[in-house]
Amino acid sequence: MNSSGTPAEGNELTDDLFDFLDSSPTSSFAVYAAAGRLEAAGFTRLDEKDGWDLKPGTRFFVVRSSSSVIAGITGREPPRLSGFRIAGAHTDSPGFRVKPCPERKTENIGTLSVEIYGSPIIATWFDRDLSLAGSLALREGNAITRRPFMTRDPLFRMASPAVHIDREINKEGFRVDRESGTPVIYSASGATFDDVLSRVCAMASVDREKVAGWSLELWDPQPATRGGLDGDMIFSGRLDNLAMCHAAVRALIKAGPGRTTSLVALFNSEEVGSATLNGAGSNFLETVTERLAGDRESYFRSIPLSVQVSVDGAHGLHPNYAGKHDPTCRPLVNGGPVIKVNAMERYTSSDVTSAYFASCAADCGVGVQYFVSRNDMPCGSTIGPLTSTRTGMRSVDAGNPMLSMHSVREMSGLSDHSDMTAVLARHLGGEMEIDD
Ligand code: ZN
Repeated sequence: MNSSGTPAEGNELTDDLFDFLDSSPTSSFAVYAAAGRLEAAGFTRLDEKDGWDLKPGTRFFVVRSSSSVIAGITGREPPRLSGFRIAGAHTDSPGFRVKPCPERKTENIGTLSVEIYGSPIIATWFDRDLSLAGSLALREGNAITRRPFMTRDPLFRMASPAVHIDREINKEGFRVDRESGTPVIYSASGATFDDVLSRVCAMASVDREKVAGWSLELWDPQPATRGGLDGDMIFSGRLDNLAMCHAAVRALIKAGPGRTTSLVALFNSEEVGSATLNGAGSNFLETVTERLAGDRESYFRSIPLSVQVSVDGAHGLHPNYAGKHDPTCRPLVNGGPVIKVNAMERYTSSDVTSAYFASCAADCGVGVQYFVSRNDMPCGSTIGPLTSTRTGMRSVDAGNPMLSMHSVREMSGLSDHSDMTAVLARHLGGEMEIDD
């Protein structure tokens, strides 16, 4: 627990994080869960289609295409005088989506073929009790609408071969053919994909005839939990990057109205490159900030005054793979938030923006750690470079240390979450500046 929070606040934050993780099987549900927390804290939903005229201190959020959201509080000072403070993260997680025409059958065993989304560790999805979430596209007259649905029922299974069938399985590692090895078992009684759709319609309380399209995603409904002897670790799916989405939303609520206009921008599509209508490569952040600035000239003046903190999962030291980490720069789970540095600019952190984040942390009594890749290993990336390139705003890449990134079941540290929430609240409070 950092100096800015009490143990009781920490427990409430943890319970709320677990609820957020458990109720967000897809990026759209993550946005829905974020919106619920924002509305409860007095934020009102704006529509991109409407005109906006926001007074100082207004709490608002804007959703684009159900799976990305920008929430904010307008500052005492207009953006042209003090810029924006932005915390950015992504709402999507690697996984599997049911293909069109998915039906396969071997004798009486029904399977559905699935398409890989992003880069999951495929083997971790095997022998889990998998469930289904997504949306139905409905036609009513001349309008198409979207209806989300989710279930925690264990409808699907990726079944591993018995060790007796594949004697090499523990020698070569469990290798899965991405096409022939991934169809999920859903029936041993001759049911068809049509029966799956009927079940989905019943869950969503939707008339089957109105369904004109669908998006079906697999997910693991095992609830998030504390883990380890002292209960100081988090075991859950989708920590990358729902944990940072949660920290950012809670930080904005905690920060409240301040001098600058503060924003939390949660984007879909990071795991597949962000080049979508509401990904970090889109004009979503650009258009929202320009509208908040009031006019184009004011928007341009706000850019050099703004700071973004891009938060995403960071690689904590894995005790069994210590050789995969930089020899001396190795972030530890529960060792505090991580500033990510990369000379090839895969992360946005610079001398001044790293100092900015570390100073926000120091003001909260929180120490920071640093991540840098080995020179003989490729470095990942995140939304920071995209939004910073698009908007021209300064940025730092940070995140909390975690293990098993992109596994169906990841792990991270409890105290890191409350520490990051405190640091982001300090950032979004808008008192700190960069003047280089
Ligand atoms: Zn991520």
